[in-house]
Amino acid sequence: MNNMNREVLNNLSYGLFVLSARYNGKDNACIINVVSQVTEKPLQIVFAVNKQNLTHDMVLSSKLCNISVLAEHTPMKVIEHFGFQSGKDVDKFEHCQVEMRSGNGLLYIPKYTNAYLSARVVNTIDMDTHTLFLAEVDEMVKLSTDSSLTYAFYHKNIKPKPVVAAAENGGKTRWVCKVCGYVYEGDELPDDFVCPWCKHGKDDFEKIV
Ligand code: FE
Repeated sequence: MNNMNREVLNNLSYGLFVLSARYNGKDNACIINVVSQVTEKPLQIVFAVNKQNLTHDMVLSSKLCNISVLAEHTPMKVIEHFGFQSGKDVDKFEHCQVEMRSGNGLLYIPKYTNAYLSARVVNTIDMDTHTLFLAEVDEMVKLSTDSSLTYAFYHKNIKPKPVVAAAENGGKTRWVCKVCGYVYEGDELPDDFVCPWCKHGKDDFEKIV
Protein backbone atom coordinates (compact mmCIF):
# COMPACT_ATOMS: atom_id res chain seq x y z
CA MET A 1 0.00 0.00 0.00
CA ASN A 2 1.26 3.43 -0.90
CA ASN A 3 0.48 5.60 2.09
CA MET A 4 2.12 8.69 0.60
CA ASN A 5 0.30 8.73 -2.73
CA ARG A 6 0.71 12.19 -4.27
CA GLU A 7 -2.23 11.57 -6.60
CA VAL A 8 -4.48 12.10 -3.58
CA LEU A 9 -3.75 15.82 -3.97
CA ASN A 10 -5.74 15.64 -7.22
CA ASN A 11 -8.74 14.47 -5.20
CA LEU A 12 -8.91 17.86 -3.51
CA SER A 13 -10.96 20.51 -5.31
CA TYR A 14 -9.30 23.57 -6.80
CA GLY A 15 -10.55 26.32 -9.06
CA LEU A 16 -8.77 28.59 -11.50
CA PHE A 17 -8.85 32.31 -10.92
CA VAL A 18 -7.24 35.49 -12.22
CA LEU A 19 -5.79 37.48 -9.33
CA SER A 20 -5.31 41.13 -10.31
CA ALA A 21 -3.64 44.01 -8.51
CA ARG A 22 -2.50 47.58 -9.06
CA TYR A 23 0.59 49.18 -7.56
CA ASN A 24 2.43 52.43 -8.45
CA GLY A 25 0.10 52.92 -11.42
CA LYS A 26 0.83 49.49 -12.89
CA ASP A 27 -1.80 46.79 -13.40
CA ASN A 28 -0.90 43.12 -13.37
CA ALA A 29 -2.54 39.74 -12.90
CA CYS A 30 -1.69 36.08 -12.51
CA ILE A 31 -3.44 32.72 -12.26
CA ILE A 32 -4.08 31.15 -8.86
CA ASN A 33 -5.89 27.94 -7.98
CA VAL A 34 -6.53 28.18 -4.22
CA VAL A 35 -9.33 30.51 -3.12
CA SER A 36 -11.87 29.70 -0.40
CA GLN A 37 -14.41 31.48 1.69
CA VAL A 38 -13.64 30.82 5.36
CA THR A 39 -15.97 33.02 7.43
CA GLU A 40 -19.34 34.69 6.91
CA LYS A 41 -19.16 37.53 9.47
CA PRO A 42 -16.97 39.23 8.55
CA LEU A 43 -16.95 37.82 5.03
CA GLN A 44 -13.39 36.56 4.65
CA ILE A 45 -11.57 34.50 2.06
CA VAL A 46 -8.13 32.91 1.91
CA PHE A 47 -5.98 32.58 -1.20
CA ALA A 48 -2.44 31.40 -1.83
CA VAL A 49 0.02 32.99 -4.26
CA ASN A 50 3.47 31.85 -5.36
CA LYS A 51 6.09 34.41 -4.33
CA GLN A 52 7.65 34.34 -7.82
CA ASN A 53 4.62 36.16 -9.20
CA LEU A 54 4.88 39.92 -9.54
CA THR A 55 1.19 40.11 -8.57
CA HIS A 56 2.16 38.52 -5.24
CA ASP A 57 4.38 41.52 -4.38
CA MET A 58 1.75 43.98 -5.61
CA VAL A 59 -0.98 42.48 -3.40
CA LEU A 60 1.41 42.35 -0.45
CA SER A 61 2.25 46.07 -0.89
CA SER A 62 -1.15 47.47 -1.85
CA LYS A 63 -3.28 45.12 0.33
CA LEU A 64 -5.91 45.15 -2.41
CA CYS A 65 -6.84 42.64 -5.08
CA ASN A 66 -9.56 41.40 -7.38
CA ILE A 67 -10.25 37.74 -7.96
CA SER A 68 -11.99 36.95 -11.25
CA VAL A 69 -13.55 33.48 -11.37
CA LEU A 70 -12.76 31.76 -14.66
CA ALA A 71 -15.56 29.83 -16.39
CA GLU A 72 -15.39 26.45 -18.12
CA HIS A 73 -15.23 27.92 -21.64
CA THR A 74 -11.90 29.63 -20.87
CA PRO A 75 -9.49 28.93 -23.77
CA MET A 76 -5.91 27.79 -23.14
CA LYS A 77 -4.60 31.13 -24.46
CA VAL A 78 -6.10 32.92 -21.43
CA ILE A 79 -4.33 30.54 -19.00
CA GLU A 80 -1.10 31.02 -20.98
CA HIS A 81 -1.52 34.78 -21.10
CA PHE A 82 -2.01 35.31 -17.38
CA GLY A 83 -0.26 32.20 -16.07
CA PHE A 84 2.75 31.34 -18.19
CA GLN A 85 4.43 34.73 -18.58
CA SER A 86 5.53 37.29 -16.03
CA GLY A 87 4.38 40.86 -15.56
CA LYS A 88 8.09 41.59 -15.09
CA ASP A 89 8.54 40.94 -18.83
CA VAL A 90 5.24 41.96 -20.43
CA ASP A 91 2.30 44.25 -19.82
CA LYS A 92 -0.49 41.68 -19.63
CA PHE A 93 -3.20 44.31 -20.11
CA GLU A 94 -1.55 46.12 -23.03
CA HIS A 95 -3.83 44.63 -25.68
CA CYS A 96 -7.04 44.27 -23.71
CA GLN A 97 -10.11 45.28 -25.72
CA VAL A 98 -11.98 46.66 -22.73
CA GLU A 99 -10.76 47.90 -19.39
CA MET A 100 -13.15 47.07 -16.57
CA ARG A 101 -12.47 48.40 -13.08
CA SER A 102 -14.26 47.64 -9.85
CA GLY A 103 -15.00 50.12 -7.05
CA ASN A 104 -11.46 49.78 -5.64
CA GLY A 105 -9.98 50.98 -8.97
CA LEU A 106 -8.49 47.59 -9.86
CA LEU A 107 -9.04 45.77 -13.13
CA TYR A 108 -11.11 42.61 -13.32
CA ILE A 109 -11.53 40.18 -16.18
CA PRO A 110 -14.95 40.63 -17.84
CA LYS A 111 -14.57 37.83 -20.41
CA TYR A 112 -14.35 34.03 -19.82
CA THR A 113 -15.37 34.65 -16.20
CA ASN A 114 -18.58 34.30 -14.21
CA ALA A 115 -17.90 36.65 -11.28
CA TYR A 116 -15.34 38.77 -9.53
CA LEU A 117 -14.64 39.61 -5.89
CA SER A 118 -12.77 42.64 -4.58
CA ALA A 119 -10.89 41.98 -1.37
CA ARG A 120 -8.72 43.78 1.17
CA VAL A 121 -5.86 41.88 2.80
CA VAL A 122 -6.16 41.70 6.60
CA ASN A 123 -3.48 39.11 7.36
CA THR A 124 -0.77 37.01 5.71
CA ILE A 125 1.09 33.81 6.54
CA ASP A 126 4.51 33.09 5.07
CA MET A 127 4.38 29.57 3.61
CA ASP A 128 7.95 29.41 2.23
CA THR A 129 7.30 29.28 -1.54
CA HIS A 130 3.87 30.91 -1.19
CA THR A 131 2.10 33.51 0.89
CA LEU A 132 -1.31 32.70 2.28
CA PHE A 133 -3.49 35.81 2.24
CA LEU A 134 -6.51 36.34 4.47
CA ALA A 135 -8.79 39.04 3.06
CA GLU A 136 -12.13 40.69 3.65
CA VAL A 137 -14.50 40.93 0.70
CA ASP A 138 -15.73 44.43 -0.18
CA GLU A 139 -17.47 43.79 -3.49
CA MET A 140 -18.88 40.72 -5.28
CA VAL A 141 -20.40 40.88 -8.77
CA LYS A 142 -21.84 38.09 -10.92
CA LEU A 143 -20.86 38.37 -14.57
CA SER A 144 -22.51 35.29 -16.08
CA THR A 145 -24.31 32.06 -15.20
CA ASP A 146 -21.54 29.87 -16.68
CA SER A 147 -20.06 27.10 -14.53
CA SER A 148 -16.80 27.85 -12.74
CA LEU A 149 -13.65 26.30 -14.15
CA THR A 150 -12.14 23.72 -11.80
CA TYR A 151 -8.53 22.59 -11.93
CA ALA A 152 -9.76 19.06 -12.76
CA PHE A 153 -11.82 20.33 -15.71
CA TYR A 154 -8.79 22.27 -16.95
CA HIS A 155 -6.62 19.14 -16.88
CA LYS A 156 -9.26 17.06 -18.62
CA ASN A 157 -10.56 19.47 -21.24
CA ILE A 158 -8.39 22.54 -21.74
CA LYS A 159 -4.72 21.65 -21.25
CA PRO A 160 -3.09 20.45 -24.51
CA LYS A 161 -2.75 16.66 -24.58
CA PRO A 162 0.70 15.28 -25.44
CA VAL A 163 -0.71 12.12 -27.03
CA VAL A 164 2.23 11.28 -29.31
CA ALA A 165 3.56 7.93 -28.12
CA ALA A 166 7.29 7.47 -27.73
CA ALA A 167 7.26 4.82 -30.45
CA GLU A 168 5.91 7.33 -32.97
CA ASN A 169 8.76 9.57 -31.98
CA GLY A 170 11.63 7.23 -32.84
CA GLY A 171 11.46 5.64 -29.38
CA LYS A 172 12.69 8.78 -27.62
CA THR A 173 11.76 9.28 -23.99
CA ARG A 174 9.58 12.26 -23.30
CA TRP A 175 8.76 14.17 -20.14
CA VAL A 176 5.43 15.95 -19.98
CA CYS A 177 4.63 18.82 -17.65
CA LYS A 178 1.48 17.82 -15.77
CA VAL A 179 0.59 21.46 -15.21
CA CYS A 180 0.70 22.90 -18.73
CA GLY A 181 1.45 20.03 -21.14
CA TYR A 182 4.95 21.16 -22.19
CA VAL A 183 6.97 18.25 -23.62
CA TYR A 184 10.71 17.75 -22.97
CA GLU A 185 12.61 15.19 -25.03
CA GLY A 186 15.50 13.27 -23.48
CA ASP A 187 16.29 10.22 -21.36
CA GLU A 188 16.89 12.19 -18.20
CA LEU A 189 15.26 15.36 -16.99
CA PRO A 190 17.83 17.49 -15.11
CA ASP A 191 17.03 17.93 -11.39
CA ASP A 192 17.03 21.71 -11.71
CA PHE A 193 14.82 21.68 -14.81
CA VAL A 194 12.16 24.39 -14.84
CA CYS A 195 9.26 24.23 -17.27
CA PRO A 196 9.76 27.07 -19.79
CA TRP A 197 5.99 27.58 -20.07
CA CYS A 198 4.60 27.44 -16.53
CA LYS A 199 7.81 27.56 -14.43
CA HIS A 200 7.01 24.40 -12.45
CA GLY A 201 9.87 22.11 -11.50
CA LYS A 202 10.90 18.52 -12.14
CA ASP A 203 8.37 17.11 -9.64
CA ASP A 204 5.54 18.18 -11.92
CA PHE A 205 6.88 16.23 -14.90
CA GLU A 206 5.75 12.75 -15.88
CA LYS A 207 7.89 10.34 -17.90
CA ILE A 208 6.36 8.89 -21.05
CA VAL A 209 8.23 5.84 -22.33
FE1 FE B 1 4.61 23.46 -17.43
